[in-house]
Amino acid sequence: MKGIKISAHKELSKDSFTIYNKPKYIYIPLIVGNDTDITVLVKKDDYVCKGEVVARSKGNFSIPLHSSISGTVIGFEEKLHHNGVMVKSILIENDFKERVEEKNDTIEQLSSYSKADFIATLKSAGIIGMGGAGFPTYIKYQTEQPIKTLIINAVECEPYITADYALGIQKVEEILETIDAILEIYKIEHAIIAIKKNNTKLIHAIQKRIGTYVRMEIKTVPNRYPMGWERLLIETVTGKTYQNLPIEVGVVVNNLSTIYAIYEALKNKTPLLERVVTITGDMIKHPTNVLVKIGTPVHEIIESIGGMKRNKDIICIAGGPMMGVALPSDEVIVTADMNAIVVLKEQALEQENTCMRCGKCVEVCPAHIEPVLIKDAYKEKESLKSLHVNRCCECGLCSYICPAKIKVREYVKKAKETLRKGE
Ligand code: SF4
Ligand code: SF4
Repeated sequence: MKGIKISAHKELSKDSFTIYNKPKYIYIPLIVGNDTDITVLVKKDDYVCKGEVVARSKGNFSIPLHSSISGTVIGFEEKLHHNGVMVKSILIENDFKERVEEKNDTIEQLSSYSKADFIATLKSAGIIGMGGAGFPTYIKYQTEQPIKTLIINAVECEPYITADYALGIQKVEEILETIDAILEIYKIEHAIIAIKKNNTKLIHAIQKRIGTYVRMEIKTVPNRYPMGWERLLIETVTGKTYQNLPIEVGVVVNNLSTIYAIYEALKNKTPLLERVVTITGDMIKHPTNVLVKIGTPVHEIIESIGGMKRNKDIICIAGGPMMGVALPSDEVIVTADMNAIVVLKEQALEQENTCMRCGKCVEVCPAHIEPVLIKDAYKEKESLKSLHVNRCCECGLCSYICPAKIKVREYVKKAKETLRKGE
């Protein structure tokens, strides 16, 4: 069976949901995915409405960044991004008036969108993959190839994270309505909602309402990591494998939170302004899932839910412990692609030992590459060329399993860098 069983710790936050929507300030980091080539559209002292575009990425896949509040641009500050680096950010002071430029009518029939309008709406709403990928969602739909299967990825296999699970339970009807509309707009044969088999509450919530949607089915997947990885998920629920992109086998995959963002964009013409973030870990007093405005400082959210058990000798991880990034503090800002903050007791770093060539990292690697060989050659571009380094999904299983405590994944990430340099 693919993947491995690891401790999930989801019980900490699974059944808890709250809202924090009153930040005094928000920060909009000038970054989309890894792209920092952003045009700023506001200046100090400008008044901005909620939902107004304040910046736009310039690259091939341009996407707007919106203000999630109404208020005044105070200036620009370097703020910690969840990738661990400081990023120039637009600082906006909230006037708590929630003023919008114009009130849009709600759309009754979501399936009334044409393909072109659907893509234009996703694009102008700034919707990106909210499971962590951060890639503009409209690109998946901008295809000449027929889409045969839409997969909703509600697997959330990373330990501790329950944001999709909590949102799914809150918004089942909206999510099903959106899936149905996408099936209609693209004439897609069917949709699969993929959920881990032990997420029974979410499964039951969907089962109760899925009855009239004949082209949709729930498929449960084993409680193993990294079952939510797109390549492994597609193979598990459809039996299909592909070379580069899922569309080669007629598949589009959207994360569950992304589907809800599409709902808001189609139904209310609301851009991506909010998301659910899991705040959890053994150092958080009351772990929970929180609906927050994008741009909210995480330390403020943590305070709003009761704070930390202590603020020394802790480690904050953006994302989960397998794929996430350890941060120097909780001064990080919520972005659309940040799904969790996990705060744990700091543990003494275990000493790396010599590789014993046990091959365990090769056995567990879901990408079927050889992490140990990549580790050995991580600086040698020529040797790396035949090792399929770019197939690595950065799941971290090689580091997790390594008996010598070698941070194998970090070597594989460096190897990717080596290949990228001088491309
Ligand atoms: S090499 Fe990449 S894909 Fe393979 S186990 Fe390590 S992190 Fe996961
Ligand atoms: S799991 Fe660790 S010790 Fe074993 S081969 Fe891989 S890198 Fe070496």
